[in-house]
Amino acid sequence: MPPFDLASDLARLRELNQFRSRRTLGSAQGRKVVVEGRELLNFCSNDYLGLAAHPVLIKALQNAANAYGVGSGAAHLVCGHSQEHHALEEELAAWLGRPRALLFSTGYMANLGAITALLGRGDAVFEDRLNHASLLDGGISSKADFQRYKHFDLAELDTRLQASAATRKLVVTDSVFSMDGDLAPLPELCATAARHEAWVMVDDAHAIGVLGKTGAGSAEHFGFEGGLGADQPQIIMGTLGKALGSFGAFVTGSEDLIDYLINHARSYIYTTAMPPAVAAATRVAVRLAQSEGWRRDKLQSLIGRLRRGLLEQGFTVPPSDTPIQPVILGESAAALALSQALRERGFWVGAIRPPTVPQGTARLRITLSAAHEEGDVDALLQALDDIRQAS
Ligand SMILES: *Cc1c(COP(=O)(O)O)cnc(C)c1O
Repeated sequence: MPPFDLASDLARLRELNQFRSRRTLGSAQGRKVVVEGRELLNFCSNDYLGLAAHPVLIKALQNAANAYGVGSGAAHLVCGHSQEHHALEEELAAWLGRPRALLFSTGYMANLGAITALLGRGDAVFEDRLNHASLLDGGISSKADFQRYKHFDLAELDTRLQASAATRKLVVTDSVFSMDGDLAPLPELCATAARHEAWVMVDDAHAIGVLGKTGAGSAEHFGFEGGLGADQPQIIMGTLGKALGSFGAFVTGSEDLIDYLINHARSYIYTTAMPPAVAAATRVAVRLAQSEGWRRDKLQSLIGRLRRGLLEQGFTVPPSDTPIQPVILGESAAALALSQALRERGFWVGAIRPPTVPQGTARLRITLSAAHEEGDVDALLQALDDIRQAS
C-alpha cells in the first residue's frame, strides 16, 4: 500500500457511516437558513440567543469597520492589539467577576494555548472523558501525564489526583457538555481538586450567555463571582462564536494568569489578532446578552416544550436544562437516516456520530435558540412523529 493511501481511509469512513461533508449556506445564521437553495428551519446552530444576525450587531460591525478597517494587521504583541480588543477584555472580566480576561482568536486556540502554557513534562492533566476535542488536544499536546476520568466521576478523579506525583495538577472540564447539554458539578469538582492542590480549568463555550442571571455563565450560575477562592475554578474560558453570535474566545483568571498566558501561550503569541471590528461588535453582543434576559427566559420555555414532546414520543433524551438537547439513537446509520428524513421535511438537525461521541451513542443534536418560536418546536415534534408513523 502506498504510504499516503487517503482513498482507502475515506472509503472506510464511508463504510462506517462516519464520512463527513459540508452543506453550504446561502443566508445569514438564524431561525431559518437557506441551504443549497432550500429554506430549512434551523435546529443545529449554537446561536443560542439569536444574536448572530442581530441588526444592532451588524450595525456595530459596519461602524467599527469604518473606523478600524478589516484586518487587525498583526498579532496582539506586535501591533495588532486595538482599543476595541482591550475594552472587550475589560468588559468580559467584569461580567464574569474575575480580575482579568484575555482574548484569543478562537476557542480551540484558547484551550490549546492555556493548557500547553501551564503544563509540561512532570505535570499531569485530568480530563472528563467527554471533554471537547480542543481540551483533549491541549492536554495531549502539553506533554503532561494525560489522564481521563469517567464523565462526572469525582470519586475516580479524587483517586487519580491522590495517586499522582506530578508537580502541577490541572483538572479540565466543560461546564455545559457540548454534545450532551448536561452541567458539570463544578463546586464539588473544585473542592475535590483543592484537596490535592490541583487547579481547575472550565470551558464555558456553551454556558456563556446561557447560564446565570445576566448570562455570565457557570461562574454566575454557581456564584463563583467576586474572587478566586480555593474552591473556585482558577481558569474559565468562554467562546464568543456561540451564544454571543460573534467570533473568538477568551480566558479569564488572575492578573498573573493573564500575564503568564500573554508570555507563554503560543497560540496567543503567534497568531493574528481578531479584527478589531469583530471585537467592537462583540462588545455590543455582551451588552445585549446581559440586558435582554428575556432571551434566556424564552430559551427555557422552548427547552421545556421540546423535552416534554420528545419524552411523550418515547425518545431517549438525557437530562439537560440547556439549549443542547440530544436524542440518542445508537447507531450512526439511524442518526443519519432520521436527520435526512427531517431535512426532507424542511428541518435541519445535525446527526452526531463517533468519534465525536462514544460508539453506540450516535444521536440527533437538537439545539434551540431564542430566535425560535413555539410553533417551530411544535412543527419539529410533529415531523418526528410523522416520520415514526411512516416507518
Ligand atoms: C466550540 C467549542 C470550542 C471551540 O471554540 P471555537 O471558538 O469554535 O474554536 C471549545 N470548547 C467547546 C466546549 C466548544 O463547544
